[in-house]
Order: sequence, then C-alpha cells, then structure tokens
Amino acid sequence: MQSPLVQRFLRYARIDSHSDPASPSVPSTLGQRTLASELADELRALGLSDVVLDANGYLTARLPATLGCSAPAIGWIAHLDTSPDFPSQPLHPQFITAWNGKEIALSDSGEKISLKAFPALRACRGHDLITTDGYTLLGADDKAGIAEIVTAIETLLAAPDIVHGDIWLAFTPDEEIGRGADHFPMERFPAKWAYTVDGGELGELEYENFNAASATIRIRGNNVHPGMAYGSMVNALTLASVFHAGMPRTETPEHSLGYEGFFHLHKMSGNTEAAELHYLVRDFIDEGFARRKVFLAERIAAFNNELDTARLTLEICDSYYNMRRKIEPHPHILDIARAAMQDAGVKPKVKPIRGGTDGSRLSFMGLPCPNLFTGGYNFHGKHECVSIQAMHKAVEVLIAIARRTAQHPDTEPHD
Ligand SMILES: [Zn+2]
Repeated sequence: MQSPLVQRFLRYARIDSHSDPASPSVPSTLGQRTLASELADELRALGLSDVVLDANGYLTARLPATLGCSAPAIGWIAHLDTSPDFPSQPLHPQFITAWNGKEIALSDSGEKISLKAFPALRACRGHDLITTDGYTLLGADDKAGIAEIVTAIETLLAAPDIVHGDIWLAFTPDEEIGRGADHFPMERFPAKWAYTVDGGELGELEYENFNAASATIRIRGNNVHPGMAYGSMVNALTLASVFHAGMPRTETPEHSLGYEGFFHLHKMSGNTEAAELHYLVRDFIDEGFARRKVFLAERIAAFNNELDTARLTLEICDSYYNMRRKIEPHPHILDIARAAMQDAGVKPKVKPIRGGTDGSRLSFMGLPCPNLFTGGYNFHGKHECVSIQAMHKAVEVLIAIARRTAQHPDTEPHD
C-alpha cells in the first residue's frame, strides 16, 4: 500500500508538464496549467484559503496561522514543470523495496543505476526507491517537491496542536527554462521569506548559487574568393578559434567543481565573413565574477589591437546573482532550516548550487529563498529516481520548519 505522499507524487508525475523553451506563451505549455488546476482543486478540497491560479499559471494558496499565532508568514515553493531535455511520458515507474545497493536494471532499456555511476545514492541503501523504466525521466524534479509540500500542509491541517504562522504556497511554471520567476505574483505572496523545495539528495540545504552572465563575442571577418584571398581575406572563424584557444584551459565546467567558477563556450557559429562565440560566465564570488567580465573585455581589446581594425565586439548580460548576499543578513532563515532538519533526524548538507534557482531570483526580488532537498537524484534524465524515505523526511522537515518558525526568537518580520 502506497503512502498518500507517494500516491500524490505519482499522480502529479503522470501529468505531462514539461516546459518548452521554444514556446513564447506563459506558461510555455498547457500541461503545466493542467497540473496547476488539478492542484488548485486539491488545495481547495484540503481547505486552504486564498487559492488563486492566475492567467500566467502561478498557483498560490495560504494555510492560515493557528489561532493566536503571530509568527511571520513563510512560503514554500515548488515548480510545476519538468525538464524539456528528456521525455517525461509515458511514465512506467519501477519500485525497488529496501534497495540493497546492487545495480538496478531499468526494465528492458539496457540502462542501469549503479553506485559506481551515481555514488550519491550510497545514502539510499536500504531505502525504497522509485525509478523509471529507462525511457523517460521521473519528474521528481520537482513533483516530489510539490507532493511533499501538499502532504506537509495536509499533516498540519490534521494536527491543530502544532502551532504555526501563515504558510503561503506557490507552484510556479517554467523553472526549467529559466522563466520561473518572471511573473511571480509577489503582490499576493506576503511571506517574509520562503524555501524552494527543489533540491536533490537527503539533507541538501542550498543558499549559494553562481553569479551568472552570458557573453556574446561577435567577430567581423572579410570574405574574399579563396583564389584571390592573398593578403586580404580575414577569416572570422579562424579569429574565433584563436580567441577561444587563448581562454584559460582549466576554467571550464568540465575542469571545475565546488566553489570554482568558469567560462563555458556553449555555442560557436559563423562563416568566413562573420562569427559568434557564446560564453556562460559563472563565479560564486562577486569580485571573481566582476574580474571575469573585465578579463573578457581586456582580452577583446588586446586581440583587437593585434588586428588591422577592431573586429571583435563584446556584449555581456547578467543573468542572476548569488543569493547568499540576500540570505546571510537574515541568519534565522538558515538556522530554522538546519534545526528543522535535525528535528527530523536529517544531517544538513550545505552545498553551493552550481547553477541558479528560482530562489536566487526571488531572493533578489525581496523574498529570501534558500533551497531544500526533495530526496530525488539524477535529475533531468532516465536515471532519475527518488527515495521514498527521503521524501518522507522532506515532509517532516517542512513541518518542523513551520513549528520552529513559530518558536524562534529572531523571527520578527524584516522589511
Ligand atoms: Zn527543479
């Protein structure tokens, strides 16, 4: 017999709600709206107030504070979409009871999950796992998060002795395509701070992410018939490859980890006449981030100096910033999360996110928003799986956060 948490997760996971980067509409796909409206019905049926599903596909709701509790309002956030990088349907989940740590074959797909390939799963030995059949992703990112939030709410509703303040929920579309915060309805989300429930392994607590920018270098060449090119052709592709060959070899995603930043050449295109290089610039440290941008500008200037004329131009757009800056001034947000994990018997694992989250953008919009684990692993592909025990722990942590927020001495609302 599956627990209500698992039943809920599977019900959400069976709805195809992948987002679509090519779609200009909001939300980018209808499936997300389908999931959001089913969730809206579920939240109303549970008895939540202020349930609103807006035209942009953002679903918000409130669990009112227990009588007499004036603790600050907090928020729990998860995203409705799954990654467009891999098919999400038809979902055929496999259930592994009390996993012994041995290789798991994903049906007849030839795909396997092993500790060698996925050492983080070591923590899940003995757990009950849900995997895919090797042909789709699972959708634990972030439907595990949604199921955990709804189950925590249901548990709080059934336990009126647990004192808590207002808890606001938001389920947002298009996180996987970087648009999750674009239309976030801050005006109807009066939480003082929030937690995204969108992390991976048991115990994850994340409040640092990259500072991120994208850099486009445009290179103007001079195309001449190759038979008459002597002394006059300038091959933009050659300039592009020489420029890239001079970039720091080891400051790339494949050579860096932990707190190390990088330049990532993710697209290169062109012909003799014109070429473009597209880099992602990433650094956790504000000064390092600024230095990387200066480095690019100085290299372009030096490169242009060596040419007959300035042929390279640089355009840099900042994408998002490290949320640490917005969260550290309010240490109780992390203190409460850490203490809540300990209450649930979970060892907090603080690690930097080598990417961005909706939480980082929301933090800069005035809603400090660290990220909590869901218990899911190997997101965005066929090896995605989730530990049922870790999912239950995530629910316990959310409930403990609600309780701890009402008890914490430093939780006077910050403005
Ligand atoms: Zn996610």
